[in-house]
Amino acid sequence: MTAQAQAGGQVSPDMARPEPVVSRFAPSPTGRLHLGHAVSAVRAHDLARAAGGRFLLRIEDIDGSRSRPEHVSAILADLDWLGLDPDGPVVFQSARLPLYADALDRLRDAGLVYPCFCTRAEVAAASLSAPHGAEPLYPGTCRHLSSPDLSRPHSWRIAMARAVAVAGPLGWHDAAAGHVRADPLAQGDVILARKDAPASYHLAVTVDDAAQGISDVVRGQDLFRATDIHRLLQALLGLPTPHYHHHPLLTGADGQRLAKRNGAPTLEAMRLGGGDGRALAADLRAGRLPAGFAPLA
Ligand code: GLU
Repeated sequence: MTAQAQAGGQVSPDMARPEPVVSRFAPSPTGRLHLGHAVSAVRAHDLARAAGGRFLLRIEDIDGSRSRPEHVSAILADLDWLGLDPDGPVVFQSARLPLYADALDRLRDAGLVYPCFCTRAEVAAASLSAPHGAEPLYPGTCRHLSSPDLSRPHSWRIAMARAVAVAGPLGWHDAAAGHVRADPLAQGDVILARKDAPASYHLAVTVDDAAQGISDVVRGQDLFRATDIHRLLQALLGLPTPHYHHHPLLTGADGQRLAKRNGAPTLEAMRLGGGDGRALAADLRAGRLPAGFAPLA
């Protein structure tokens, strides 16, 4: 447990930003980037540059079945087109699996994770609704198996109630929201290592943000509550807590969240269509969005 967790886990709202300033853009190469990604990347880049810090690019490709090298190439070309130049070598999560395995081992040794053999369909059928109506909560089917057969395909879930009891009360700092009380219990026994991938997003991102010395995490508002889980994992693994900057999600003029399924144009399409990426980045900095997008709050 960290000193912070032992001291009651409070993070003062005016907690000084960790030094040196290091930000990152961490896309998953499971599709082409769209304008929402550009907003994140510009903000993360500018935050680091304004402080004389470093801006890193991390490719979150642990999901081997959905990640594609051609998406990685497009991401690199898009960032170059936007005029955002990452510092240092590009980091690929697929090359860092032993780090995630180590972290999982430590949680396993502490009795804070358990193997789960449920299929997605079984979980969906037995799930209770999460209080805020988001993801269904895992009903705990495998939580107390006496002699699990680890030769069968399984994921690893965090024993959330136990983990929260061990860590104590926790908080984190968001640039817009100020001090946030972490409530990871509301998300239930989330998966930390999947049947088909050696680490979940939550575990990999927490380990990597610490290993890369990230001081400032810039990402969309959709990941706001995920930070509660990352904060808990930081406390359990003795890792530092960055500052967080969750920005509003870009929506179309109809208020619909931007996603490829809504027909949002990709950065690649704009780039190959002859658009000026640096001018687009400058527009985003000034809060100007192309026609058809609602202004960012
Ligand atoms: N890889 C995640 C995504 O593309 C973002 C991770 C993060 O910024 O924490 O949605």
